[in-house]
Amino acid sequence: MANLPILQFEEKILDTVERNPVVVIIGETGSGKSTQLSQMLHKRGYTKSGIIAVTQPRRVAAVSVSRRVAQELGVRLGEEVGYAIRFEDRTSEKTRIKYLTDGVLLRESLTNPELNQYSVIILDEAHERSLNTDILLGLMKRLVKIRTSNLKVLITSATLDGEKVSRFFSNCPVLNVPGKLFPVEILYSTERPSSYLEASLKTAIDIHVREPEGDVLIFMTGQDDIEKLVLKLEERIQRLEEGSCMDAIVLPLHGSLPPEMQVRVFSPPPLNCRRFIVATNIAETSLTVDGVVYVIDSGYVKQRQYNPSTGMYSLDVVQISRVQADQRAGRAGRTRPGKCYRLYPSMVYHDELLDATVPEIQRSSLAGSVLYLKSLDLTDIDILKFDLLDPPSSESLEDALKQLYLIDAIDENGSITRVGRTMAELPLEPSLSRTLMEANECGCLSQALTVAAMLSAETTLLPGRSKSNEKKRKHAPSELPDGSGWGDHIQLLQIYEHWDQTDYDIDWCKDNSLQVRGMMFVKDVRKQLCQIMQKIGNGSLDVRTNERRKESRQDYRNLRKALCVGYANQLAERMIRHNGYRTSGFKSQLVQVHPSSVLRADEEGMLPNYVVYHELIATSRPYMRNVCTVEMPWVAPILKKLEKLNIKKLSGGSSHSEERIEVENINLPKKEVDVAVPTDDRDSRVQAARERFLARKANR
Ligand code: ADP
Ligand code: MG
Repeated sequence: MANLPILQFEEKILDTVERNPVVVIIGETGSGKSTQLSQMLHKRGYTKSGIIAVTQPRRVAAVSVSRRVAQELGVRLGEEVGYAIRFEDRTSEKTRIKYLTDGVLLRESLTNPELNQYSVIILDEAHERSLNTDILLGLMKRLVKIRTSNLKVLITSATLDGEKVSRFFSNCPVLNVPGKLFPVEILYSTERPSSYLEASLKTAIDIHVREPEGDVLIFMTGQDDIEKLVLKLEERIQRLEEGSCMDAIVLPLHGSLPPEMQVRVFSPPPLNCRRFIVATNIAETSLTVDGVVYVIDSGYVKQRQYNPSTGMYSLDVVQISRVQADQRAGRAGRTRPGKCYRLYPSMVYHDELLDATVPEIQRSSLAGSVLYLKSLDLTDIDILKFDLLDPPSSESLEDALKQLYLIDAIDENGSITRVGRTMAELPLEPSLSRTLMEANECGCLSQALTVAAMLSAETTLLPGRSKSNEKKRKHAPSELPDGSGWGDHIQLLQIYEHWDQTDYDIDWCKDNSLQVRGMMFVKDVRKQLCQIMQKIGNGSLDVRTNERRKESRQDYRNLRKALCVGYANQLAERMIRHNGYRTSGFKSQLVQVHPSSVLRADEEGMLPNYVVYHELIATSRPYMRNVCTVEMPWVAPILKKLEKLNIKKLSGGSSHSEERIEVENINLPKKEVDVAVPTDDRDSRVQAARERFLARKANR
């Protein structure tokens, strides 16, 4: 620890922070940014006037880094040093250094807009360019100007374009902490492998047999592949002749690993034993694993992308950027000269890879963020002109506005409503927040809380939801409830209620191949959501689970109705001819119910006419995942609202100019309206989006 690069710059850093409200610090991964900066500032007395907040885009990094800092300071985690991630707060009155996800800090700013409890805010891992960090950057820019008490903002990054951030913050100082990386030899493949899993396996074994000691870090794209490779590697290592090479252990590293498994990666390896660490891109910059000498880089990463023109998510395996490739290689040179095996030709690196990763703000649904910004009441700032490092497309802003309008979070003029304000306080995506509020009105809040908690747990809960579980199901037929024909949300509810009736029996989970840890988390999340709802409703709400028992044989009508309101922007109508569904709205898609759904056609082979869905995902084809049947009378008002939808008014454009377009619409042939470019900036952006939409439509 004593020789971490950043410690040699302690005086310079403290001095610069002392004299400037905002400082950018660029330092190689492992130089000590995440673990040391907070401690330095703490030692210098910055925690006397407030807490030091350090944001992390990834939950696991917030937990892991805070644990490390608590250890270094010799304190109990949760006391002087703590962390807060969604649904998990391990801080106390004693806490002076707080690691938290960027999302949690954003939410805190809703109740305390000036974030007065903090004397220092460190936006860590800014190079990740997560959506929430980007919004925080914009927020900090305002905050340093308006906050009355002293605030220091530090922005740290492994690779970020420091000049760009500096310009954003009126040319604030940029400190570069030179890391002492050892040279890393780059070895390219002559061609791309047909299976990068097999190629990684082969390369790993080659290293193990031929190369001197040193740990091997292998970058895979996701948990599934990691699990596969870990198994295969273990098997291959065992088959090696005894005594032919040193011992080896294989360790997975990814975001949903249980804490006790994560710790293994950070504890020193046994003597004369090589470690293989099979990781997602979490090991690229978020977590530093010591002892790595060899890196195997497939050149791919799994990226969740949202397409605002279709409302569809896809989880794509995409090529990493050159910056990422360099980061991965750098992991090999931390302790001594290393080697990086790139499983792609050098031509790919030089000619095909993008310079830098596309920021999340340009590939996410923005409904939650736009609602957040609206609820801040920044009277001096137009929502669409909120100062951001890189602006999102007007198309995705419009998509967000449309959703918010359909679920009553904003009115037809784009102003936030009372409903919208309450929604922003809930740590849930807008559709689920809205569902809870509606459920409260229809007297089924308790059930809706359960569904929201089940959907928020993010762990694989149900057999058949992931491929590896599918196999298990064939062995032991599950006796889980099936949603009574109403779909997945109802099934989630029934599962939880069943478990509740067994008094949260762990064996019941195991017998039904439900993840015990996941279910315990759901229970906890549900409890927390209850508390938040109680606070919002001043304790007057009925959130008891037992109240639903009398309803258990019902058609869950009220709950489905509430879901229909919350998912107003996620509605689909059955298409008789296409044997599938058409999503509602002017950008409608043909989609199918995901095969993992419990929703089945009835005896006559009929699927329900209308469903709402939790998300649209594009895999082999467009699917709706987690669907719930709804009824025509509930759908009608949504369709009517869609008809009236006026995107221009929603985004704050004057209705006057809209009238002008409508008049033109009547008088001119359609084509000419499309090319008539209005003068003001926003008009032209709306127009451009419209043209793109029409062009796509014509192509279809
Ligand atoms: P940076 O944020 O600049 O990438 P960190 O502050 O995360 O660097 O890491 C600095 C050093 O602390 C590294 O050598 C790393 O191995 C070590 N370290 C960080 N977290 C842990 C942990 N949870 N357990 C053990 N060592 C850790
Ligand atoms: Mg870090």
